[in-house]
Amino acid sequence: MSIGALLDVILPPACASCGLPGAAACAACRAALETLPPPWCGGCGAPVPVPVPRCGACRGRIAGARQAVAYSGPAPALVAALKDERRRGLAGVMAEVIAASVPAPPAGVVLVPVPLGPLRARARGFNQSLLIARALSRAWGRPVAEALVRTREGADQRGARATARARQASGAFAPRAGAPAPEAAWLVDDVRTTGATLADCARALHAAGTRSVGAVCFARVPDGATR
Ligand SMILES: [Zn+2]
Ligand SMILES: [Zn+2]
Repeated sequence: MSIGALLDVILPPACASCGLPGAAACAACRAALETLPPPWCGGCGAPVPVPVPRCGACRGRIAGARQAVAYSGPAPALVAALKDERRRGLAGVMAEVIAASVPAPPAGVVLVPVPLGPLRARARGFNQSLLIARALSRAWGRPVAEALVRTREGADQRGARATARARQASGAFAPRAGAPAPEAAWLVDDVRTTGATLADCARALHAAGTRSVGAVCFARVPDGATR
């Protein structure tokens, strides 16, 4: 057991956003998460005035993508605590928040976490997207497959500007050797920033033979914003 996981067990949890003891994310902070009201873009999940199949924020061949909340309010603190403080329990919280607003994908869809590069995975000790995918798998009854690998170590995208981030993401993913490409997949990630990472993952899946690619993320960075 890692030190972080051990501390999770020994110490009473405190809300990662406001510090209130008792839960990894307190009820008030959960309620303060800003949901994304419908209608959504049928491609990328952006809240739009009228339903459209694609919008200006869409990237790559992804259909039916959804994000549960906006990357605002308590959401950035929850994401940071999961990734930087290694508070793994927050992956379960994020999956609960997702499953509360996003229906399970159709039968046959495989959940594919966005992979980390080996250096970052070793430094952090886990891939937060895989933890979220596993928790969603339990909620939705859909399998998880680590069908992709990251072939180039990306910089931490927080703080990077959108255009630089789009360049970083390009060509950084490949199908995992020996893993059959799922027929239908939903990519899973903690945060959708520009959509460049998801588009790149979708490209790798399509090249390997996956017919349809969707995506689900905990939070969406508003279009044009940086984080
Ligand atoms: Zn709180
Ligand atoms: Zn869109």
